[in-house]
Amino acid sequence: MDGISCDRCGKSLLIDEDVRYQVKVIVQAAYDPMEISKGDLEKTGVDSWKSLLKSLENLSAEEAQDQVYREIRFDLCPPCQKAYLVSPIPGTDVSGSSSSSGSGIST
Ligand SMILES: [Zn+2]
Repeated sequence: MDGISCDRCGKSLLIDEDVRYQVKVIVQAAYDPMEISKGDLEKTGVDSWKSLLKSLENLSAEEAQDQVYREIRFDLCPPCQKAYLVSPIPGTDVSGSSSSSGSGIST
């Protein structure tokens, strides 16, 4: 397991750091297939199934899989782990200042 480097800054983790962090991100479609009822199936016309299947045909197996479930793993050095936790999703801030943009909160 040599050659591990931080996926954010590229720093070698084995040489410079005793501690490294593994991040596992799972992105999955937020629906439960078991919730599809017989009525839903009946409401869905044959044409929409055909178009759905046709759109899937144009995807590779990997692309089709990505639409339902995707697991991403990467390694981070400690500074990048801190930075990642502040903003796991670029453009968002989860560092605890959520009330700054909240509505209906008056001091
Ligand atoms: Zn890093």
